[in-house]
Amino acid sequence: MRFVSLLLNNRLTITPETLVNDPSLKAVSFSELSVVEQPPLNPTFQYDEKLQQILYGKKLLFDELSFTVDQIQKHYENGYVKYSTGISKTSYGYVCSRCGNEKRRLFATFSCFCCKSDNCAYCRNCIMMGRVSQCTPLISWYGPEVKWSHENNLFWKGELSSGQRVASQKFVERIGFEGELLIWAVCGAGKTEVLFKGVEKALNLGLRVCIATPRTDVVLELAPRLKAVFPKTMVASYYGGSEERETPAQLVISTTHQLYRFKQAFNIMIVDEVDAFPYSYDQTLQHAVSIAVTPRHFLLYLSATPSKTMKKAAMNERLPFVKIPKRFHGFPLPVPKMVWAGEWKKSLERGKLPAPFLKWLKAQAESGRRAMIFVSSLSVLDKLTKLIRKEVNVPVDSVHAKDPLRKEKVSQFRNEDIQLLITTTILERGVTVPFLDVAVFGADHDVFTESALVQIAGRAGRSKDDHNGEVLLFHYGKSLSMIQAINHIKNMNKEAGL
Ligand SMILES: [Zn+2]
Ligand SMILES: [Zn+2]
Repeated sequence: MRFVSLLLNNRLTITPETLVNDPSLKAVSFSELSVVEQPPLNPTFQYDEKLQQILYGKKLLFDELSFTVDQIQKHYENGYVKYSTGISKTSYGYVCSRCGNEKRRLFATFSCFCCKSDNCAYCRNCIMMGRVSQCTPLISWYGPEVKWSHENNLFWKGELSSGQRVASQKFVERIGFEGELLIWAVCGAGKTEVLFKGVEKALNLGLRVCIATPRTDVVLELAPRLKAVFPKTMVASYYGGSEERETPAQLVISTTHQLYRFKQAFNIMIVDEVDAFPYSYDQTLQHAVSIAVTPRHFLLYLSATPSKTMKKAAMNERLPFVKIPKRFHGFPLPVPKMVWAGEWKKSLERGKLPAPFLKWLKAQAESGRRAMIFVSSLSVLDKLTKLIRKEVNVPVDSVHAKDPLRKEKVSQFRNEDIQLLITTTILERGVTVPFLDVAVFGADHDVFTESALVQIAGRAGRSKDDHNGEVLLFHYGKSLSMIQAINHIKNMNKEAGL
């Protein structure tokens, strides 16, 4: 977008080119404006409350707002909206103010219609959220703060297990203070319930809370549960394609990616699955968390399988932590069994299922119990699904990260309309289905790290009426990760006194 600089009430201000009728004024790209002065707040201006609620604590592009350029500009001229640079030039390249990316290879230039430049630079790292380029300002709220509600009572009748209670109390005690806490809870410990009391206390103090998780599936599972227990609270979920992004929510459930849109918004930030890909590998996502919180904030991390760095920080008392080694229902975590499946890759190429796997498959189909079958790649997913369909007469389907029907299939599986679901590691976390067994086909493959296998095994036996779900690792040679995962689970069971 191009802007012209002009004097307004004896101050140098900027105006989008499209709103100026005077052709003698020279329009330049946003990045070429020498100074962007913030006009002082005009207390008599009637600001739009809807714009305030949508924009407060955010940094958005013009395209992301359902307001006209004219409306936004009026708020800027009266000091209620701030324009800031999306992409700045530095001595060594560029930096993206939305995602914090500074890597040269993640910037590109294009011939830009908006600023009429042949090489307008944009950020490729956060392009899935809409393009931030040198000529697109980020828009944020500069007017009065949104006042959040103090009436957000928790409506929940359930009871916490002893482990949950300890963790919950630790969290509650910390609300209102700055700092960090790690809750290290086994899969199936019931960590969502652990959050309830602390979140209630925070909301009732008028604080704004975010639960961020790397996975969309988890957002979709958590949002309805939180809406149900906080019926008086404005709750919104943020993920790619979400329709609630304009809800002025005090409690936000978001994918970590969507945090790029926030700025100094949250007093309490809860990062779920803090070890999960892509959060743990992507520094810009960690940057997003640090930008999305207010200067004084409290950070809570949740994980069943914390990274080495995090475990070390916890052990050295640099990071306060509390452990929940026991599952909610009090029964031990199912320990995976290793099953030799021979050269499974070759078998698939020959169009055959390995004999031990076929034997399990037939018995599983006959038992009527659901199973998730994890595979290492899309090509294995396709081949295996075809072969399984030939062998059994029960509803079988497959799902992967880019599957457009992913949401529907997971809910069909939950409703027992699918009995056997073949999946890539995308469903290793978050999905909770009772009466479930788990198989890993080709468990010796590199994608199945210790933490991935612990998470996968954690899908089984989550219901108190079916705590003995089976976990089978079909392999062609035990991997170190398989052995480590089994030891990890046995140790947690030991710590829980089981
Ligand atoms: Zn970016
Ligand atoms: Zn441009």
